[in-house]
Amino acid sequence: MNDGEAWDVVILGAGLAGLTAGNLLSEPGVDVLVIEREESVGGLSRTIEHNGFRFDLGGHRFITENQRIDDFVKDILDGDFLDVDRSSKILLNGKYFDYPWRLLNAFRGLGVRGTSAILFDYSAERLRRLFRDTEIKSFEDAMVCRFGRAMFDIFVKEYSEKVWGIECGLMAKELAEWRIQGLSLWVAARDALFGPGGGNARTLARKFLFPPLGIGMIAEGLRRGIEKSHPVLTGVPVVRVNHSAGRIDSVMTRQGDETRLHRAGEFVSSIPLNTLLRLFDPKPPAGILEAAAGLRFRDLMIVTVMIDRPRVTDQTWIYVPGHEIPFGRIHEPTNWSEKMAPRGKTLLVTEHFCFRQDDAWKAGDDALVEATVASLEDLGFIQGHEVIDSLVLRIPNAYPILDIGHEENRGKILDYLDTFVNLHVIGRGGTFRYLNMDHAMESGIAVAEEILAGNKESRSRSRGGAEAHR
Ligand SMILES: Cc1cc2nc3c(=O)[nH]c(=O)nc-3n(C[C@H](O)[C@H](O)[C@H](O)COP(=O)(O)OP(=O)(O)OC[C@H]3O[C@@H](n4cnc5c(N)ncnc54)[C@H](O)[C@@H]3O)c2cc1C
Repeated sequence: MNDGEAWDVVILGAGLAGLTAGNLLSEPGVDVLVIEREESVGGLSRTIEHNGFRFDLGGHRFITENQRIDDFVKDILDGDFLDVDRSSKILLNGKYFDYPWRLLNAFRGLGVRGTSAILFDYSAERLRRLFRDTEIKSFEDAMVCRFGRAMFDIFVKEYSEKVWGIECGLMAKELAEWRIQGLSLWVAARDALFGPGGGNARTLARKFLFPPLGIGMIAEGLRRGIEKSHPVLTGVPVVRVNHSAGRIDSVMTRQGDETRLHRAGEFVSSIPLNTLLRLFDPKPPAGILEAAAGLRFRDLMIVTVMIDRPRVTDQTWIYVPGHEIPFGRIHEPTNWSEKMAPRGKTLLVTEHFCFRQDDAWKAGDDALVEATVASLEDLGFIQGHEVIDSLVLRIPNAYPILDIGHEENRGKILDYLDTFVNLHVIGRGGTFRYLNMDHAMESGIAVAEEILAGNKESRSRSRGGAEAHR
């Protein structure tokens, strides 16, 4: 092992948060090194290329209310982006419903009985809240309060539990705000009656930015920017974080049989919060390791099937709540950009939400593809003989699980990490926050500015404060 190269800043993880920080820091000539475990950059926002087909790890639409981030991304893409119309559906019991919900469409699909139940429960909930201010403790409480019990039971419960793997009553109430910003039955009704334009709610946005060759082009552009002057190491996991006397001294990486030390004045981590703590040497106190064990992530498997047909659907996303179906969401990248498949062919990307301990995660790729194709056939999307290729990817740590207890564990961990004067945590897994791409990039910008200003006091901004005002 070498005795360590020295840098001004070492960044752990080359997702959008780490790359944005690296990009901003490398411009003013700070000596920065970015280290990434995977062979390619982009993290959750990367694009896979396979025999001429391209797809993202679950469709990623870029949308932001932050003008600076909007300008930054358009600049990174050098003006090469599409303005895509969004149209999404929920496929429930063989019927398609618009998402975001449109009242008239939902009522047509549900019939008189279902519609009456929704209207009755919604009115009852409003009346109840008028006279009795019951405490909202969970995601379930928050959603029932906003939409009424029947709407929650029909459209929210099953899908949410499929995504998160825990009961809605155990999920934190904040999730409701982050998940469906600004959406309520009232907004849906106003939209249905008076047409689009239901405020600035992200959930209701009808257009989004998409690079023609996939969302990963943003990360690739950021990487190119850094590499004009500084290295981005890929395929190189950080395996140890050495610290002493309240400072991070160095990180150790491993590549094949070789280990290397990288020393720096400042360290920025965007790798999952609990992974970071497990790499600490010496180990953190037992209470902190316990808190880290209490933070859990939901993992994701992507099963993509390539189809010998120009197009299967006309949708951006199709949500599939039913528990009997192995995946929860489908997208067809060619509806986002025609360049995502060779001419005359298309592909369907299915998202299977699970835990690494599940049998599904451990199942062989062939079995997963077989089950996926069988379901797609049952749902009437394709015929088995049209499938010309497939690819399975397993993505650990896709969703931080925001259960009711997570905030206490997260707080303990961040307080502990705050005692290290030269460590900054950013990004989605890095701060254990439900961040979208623009929020992850905001956290990268905040930390770069903090380091450039030499101002550790403002660390709260990179603790996930970026989205706290939303
Ligand atoms: C299915 C899905 C769909 C989504 N759709 C959207 C969308 O439509 N719009 C939107 O705005 N956002 C969307 N998001 C969220 C978006 O993906 C994230 O906000 C964003 O990619 C987070 O970037 P990040 O850099 O914070 O984290 P990550 O992308 O997780 O980056 C962390 C990086 O650290 C690396 N790493 C981990 N351990 C180590 C180690 N030991 N050593 C070195 N490197 C390591 C990882 O490989 C990874 O590259 C979606 C997320 C998912 C899961």
